[in-house]
Amino acid sequence: MRFLLDTMLGHLLTWLRLLGYDTLYNEDLSDDELLETAKNEGRILITRDRDLARKSVKHKVETVLLDSTDVVESLRKIQAETRISLIFDIDRSRCPDCNTPLEKLSTNPLRWRCVNCGKDYWRGRHWRNISKTLEKLNQQ
Ligand SMILES: [Zn+2]
Repeated sequence: MRFLLDTMLGHLLTWLRLLGYDTLYNEDLSDDELLETAKNEGRILITRDRDLARKSVKHKVETVLLDSTDVVESLRKIQAETRISLIFDIDRSRCPDCNTPLEKLSTNPLRWRCVNCGKDYWRGRHWRNISKTLEKLNQQ
């Protein structure tokens, strides 16, 4: 499952990529370009714009209409509407910066690297914050 984020939804980009989903965000695309990209690349459009959502559905593009600015609430809605389980597993994660799947560098200590931009990732404080936020996803 692949996603395309509408303008103003850049804050969801990192999360969806860390969760392992091929996700694009480009502020310069017009509504028509967004629809075309979603259709051509088989991406689910995520937007907060009701008019665009209506248009998108008319063009047979799978669409999730968000009404919250909260990350956890937004991810919950995406999860519910697309019937996917958003589970954090860094072995499936994509680089938050460039969308490339991460590769395991070593198991002890656990490290991953993005072969495209060269960034390294490891279990640290940042990781625990991410896990904590994502754990909230499946709680009441
Ligand atoms: Zn990268």
